[in-house]
Amino acid sequence: MTQISNHMPTAELQALDAAHHMHPFTHNADLGAKGARIITRADGVWLTDSDGNRILDGMAGLWCVNLGYGRQELVDAATRQMQELPFYNTFFQTSHTPAIALAARLAELAPGDLNHVFFAGSGSEANDTNLRMVRTYWAEKGQPEKQVVISRWNAYHGSSVGSGSLGGMKGMHSQGGLPIPGIHHIDQPDWWSEGGDMTPEDFGLERARQLETAIKELGADKVAAFIAEPVQGAGGVIVPPATYWPEIQRICREHDILLIADEVICGFGRTGNWFGSQTMEITPDIMTIAKGLSSGYLPIGGSIVSDRIAEVIGNAEFNHGYTYSGHPVAAAVALENLRILDEEGIVTRVREETAPYLAEKFRSLTDHPLVGEAKIVGMMGSIALTPDKASRAAFEADGGTAGYICRERCFANNLVMRHVGDRMIISPPLVISREEIDTLIERAWQSLDETHAKLQADGLMKARKVA
Ligand SMILES: *Cc1c(COP(=O)(O)O)cnc(C)c1O
Repeated sequence: MTQISNHMPTAELQALDAAHHMHPFTHNADLGAKGARIITRADGVWLTDSDGNRILDGMAGLWCVNLGYGRQELVDAATRQMQELPFYNTFFQTSHTPAIALAARLAELAPGDLNHVFFAGSGSEANDTNLRMVRTYWAEKGQPEKQVVISRWNAYHGSSVGSGSLGGMKGMHSQGGLPIPGIHHIDQPDWWSEGGDMTPEDFGLERARQLETAIKELGADKVAAFIAEPVQGAGGVIVPPATYWPEIQRICREHDILLIADEVICGFGRTGNWFGSQTMEITPDIMTIAKGLSSGYLPIGGSIVSDRIAEVIGNAEFNHGYTYSGHPVAAAVALENLRILDEEGIVTRVREETAPYLAEKFRSLTDHPLVGEAKIVGMMGSIALTPDKASRAAFEADGGTAGYICRERCFANNLVMRHVGDRMIISPPLVISREEIDTLIERAWQSLDETHAKLQADGLMKARKVA
């Protein structure tokens, strides 16, 4: 076997990748024919690929590299912990300082009485924990019928059987027999695509009240919890109308339904506060965390749980856990990541300086002929591509055709901006500077121009007729 390294020609790496590596959420044969882009190193907000291009990472990896790349402190924290204690479990009445310290720090940072942490290796695993935990909670409280979890179409909560069922991605449900029983989906608060003639405010209330309707239909004595991302991420950075969350909170309280805020993207500064729940002013019973918890340097996730849930769960034996729950090296790196976010004032700087600066520039993209709305909260934003702004029309071509062209143009212009259907999304590292924001917007504008030209040349600037 030859030594595979970054010194090999790109084409050889691509051929080996296509031969042996199955990529997540990818049409692997198509990718094999085209060749994967191979990232070799990164620093700050900049990626380098195997052809030597320097690419501005507008997605923070996969919404997770909040601190940016190349932080030596995180490397040192991992090295120290690997030397001292590379692994020990937290089952069977044992513990270790990284897990203790991280749980205590998260309890400090989390709002209200969210004081208890159940660790997992990822966001998917943490949401699986939540599913079992809320059902166990009600069973232990003598209401074993309260088992249904309500979620939303186009939500993303992970890719395992449980978390993929909680999510509302139809393309995922159609493979492998999802969703499992006991999950109910309501519509998402996406005003641009689904709001019709309603005002955003009325639409927000209408979508929130679908939760109340579902609870009444299913019976409040059957519903355990509602799960949602404060701002939907993978669904296309859907920022709900201002009326949405207060109404959801009211409904959960009134019907005694637990609220799970999936903070996997929104957590750790992304929305300008430590948690998206603070930005949306909600009080969840459980928060799911992962991604930005370690800035993606090592895999770790978890559930931060309220006093009342921890007390009930604590009075039973919860037959649940992962080998890597509270993994000491991942926990040590997460703790160091939180220290830096705090001591360098990064969350505050996002809220007060860089996010407002980015927001102003980002909203100016609506001056582009191809862009309908631009929505942004903190350091996560999206723009809707449209052939006709006035009617908020979708393209006649299959959803995602324009988005895909735009994403390819972004890549060609050395900018990573993802597309979800025909929405273009950004979620840059929180350490992005003003200058880098300027570069991001310039490259986005350039890519939109090129996309627009191509759509016109190909006769694709046509609106879909509404049935
Ligand atoms: C990414 C994500 C998950 C899943 O996390 P993994 O670490 O990929 O399992 C769950 N919820 C949300 C909101 C996410 O964005």
